[in-house]
Amino acid sequence: MSSTAPGRLHVVATPIGNLGDLSPRALQVLRSVDRIAAEDTRHTQQLLAAFGARATLVALHDHNEGSQSAQLVARMQAGENIALVSDAGTPLVSDPGFRLVRAAREGGIAVSPVPGACAAIAALSVAGIASDRFAFEGFLPNKAAARRARLQALSAESRTLIFYESSHRVAETLNDAAQAFGPDRRAALARELTKRFETVLDGGLAELALRVAGDSDQQRGEFVLVVEGAPEQDGGEALAQGRRAFALLREHLPPSQAARLAAEISGAPRKRLYEPGAGGD
Ligand code: SAM
Repeated sequence: MSSTAPGRLHVVATPIGNLGDLSPRALQVLRSVDRIAAEDTRHTQQLLAAFGARATLVALHDHNEGSQSAQLVARMQAGENIALVSDAGTPLVSDPGFRLVRAAREGGIAVSPVPGACAAIAALSVAGIASDRFAFEGFLPNKAAARRARLQALSAESRTLIFYESSHRVAETLNDAAQAFGPDRRAALARELTKRFETVLDGGLAELALRVAGDSDQQRGEFVLVVEGAPEQDGGEALAQGRRAFALLREHLPPSQAARLAAEISGAPRKRLYEPGAGGD
């Protein structure tokens, strides 16, 4: 009886703008695998063509990842080697792929990273903001009220915060962030990293909001916003957790009840989460 050794899943980072950032190993893996699972096959075809490479591509995006993952795992179990790529940067980072990676691991398939560009890390590396502890928040919610609530819930977070943002909302988000975190909280806005119009603006959030609002060029392209964490206070972690819990519970309960529960959950003093009489109850 002959049995075929299972293949491997390679999670391959691709450039976030500058083609020179595709690593030699990434190219070698993309050339050698049996199949590439790509977020947008046309986009990946163009990337490969730029390197004179060709491959069999299969679409794997948010809408078909569940069903496609099972088929791809079956192929790897039958011996195929597969690469996973997204349109830009590292797959799974605000991009599809998590379900495929989980299915592969559950199916006994080895999963190997081929690391490379990631906009969040690229921005952090040039922001000049403490990078020893950071929290990646990805995209904020689309709706204004939910976005503001999320920012409010993060206002006491002492780790550096990293957000992805799109051109049509960047000005609004800077304003909302200045409201939630305070006008002077230090931040860096990284735009079009590794591309022709790369810019990194830094300063207080209110100042950044003004500069971007006053210059339509600064509202074009792709953005990462890096925000300095809140100053550490005694019990800072508990307070941050308490404020997050309060903001979430507040959507469903009266403020005093939300504050009592949030204080119990986090161990933060109830009074630091909500002052009765401050409105709402
Ligand atoms: N997987 C990607 C990564 O590793 O960074 C992120 C994909 S996510 C769908 C796309 C977002 O990443 C953009 O909206 C923008 O916020 C950020 N981004 C991607 N490329 C960028 C660049 N060159 N400069 C600044 N931000 C970028």
